[in-house]
Amino acid sequence: MGWSFRLFDVAGTAVRIHVTFFLLLAWIAAIHWSKGGAAAAIDGVVFILALFLCVVLHEFGHVFAARRYGIRTSDVTLLPIGGVASLERMPEKPSQEILVALAGPAVNLVIAVLLVVVLEARFDLLQMAQLEEAQSTLLGRIAAANVVLFAFNLIPAFPMDGGRVLRALLAIWLGYTRATRVAASIGQGLAVIFGFLGLMGNPLLVLVAVFIFLAARGEAGYVQAREYTRGYLASHAMISSFQSLNPLSTVDDAAALLLRTTQQEFPVVDGAGALRGVLTREALIAALRVSGGSTPVIDIMARDVPTVPENACLDNIFQMLQRSRAPVVAVVDPRGKLVGYITAENLTELVMIQSSRSARAEQAASA
Ligand SMILES: [Zn+2]
Repeated sequence: MGWSFRLFDVAGTAVRIHVTFFLLLAWIAAIHWSKGGAAAAIDGVVFILALFLCVVLHEFGHVFAARRYGIRTSDVTLLPIGGVASLERMPEKPSQEILVALAGPAVNLVIAVLLVVVLEARFDLLQMAQLEEAQSTLLGRIAAANVVLFAFNLIPAFPMDGGRVLRALLAIWLGYTRATRVAASIGQGLAVIFGFLGLMGNPLLVLVAVFIFLAARGEAGYVQAREYTRGYLASHAMISSFQSLNPLSTVDDAAALLLRTTQQEFPVVDGAGALRGVLTREALIAALRVSGGSTPVIDIMARDVPTVPENACLDNIFQMLQRSRAPVVAVVDPRGKLVGYITAENLTELVMIQSSRSARAEQAASA
């Protein structure tokens, strides 16, 4: 995620903070300052920091639950609207997804119970709607906030935690793809309601609503796309007719090739046909400006390009393109010779072709 920087690492997962988070802190400080001066501003900021510590712990509930199923998480990012844990995938087995989804809210419940029982924090349930009010003690407000986090995350607005539980339950009867479609529609409907409620006085809720709406659409689209390409192999989808550069090519050679072809990425292939790297249009244009046309392409190409055999499942390639920031996934024959490559764009084309084919098949079946 851009515009964020790393704070620290916990057990192999980086905790990152988005720069807009500081806008939230400044906004909270300003509001409290105008009401009660410096003391109120410090109190407000301390409360928000404590709240976001609880959000980080919530995300690590998901992270450690997912780890039990062999799923790693590269980072947890703090945004003004909450935390996002970048799990490398969600488990598709319903029981596992339910456990991973519930692990986050469970952390908030435990925190609230500990604060109330062990530290004897007192909170008034009626005051929960006005979390910023400074009438109760800091611990009491943090306990109340955790009850709110627990309850809010369990609202079945996919892809929030409650929505993931709903998707997993639906998947038992409907299968993963249809369950995702139904859960995403419910999530988008709830997001619209959140948006309206937010417009009546809570700008953060509007942001949360937009986030849920877009995330639901994105995730449903991704699951649908994977369904369309299920059973396909790398060799079915790869670009097999392309121009390549050699390790002695310069940026000027690449610029000529960029104009002559419709390609936007150029494999750099050595004399034996093995892939050395991939030059992207962006890197090429940047190099023309910075280091000039005589720069060798091997100095500016992307080197860590994942490679797969021709019979690799497209399903995995989807994930590879998402996870590694590589521009392409290269397809090689058993001798390591480059035979083609796959980009996000040509996967999109395959999905477009397959969705039209299946729409026609459905029409034919219902006629
Ligand atoms: Zn969560």
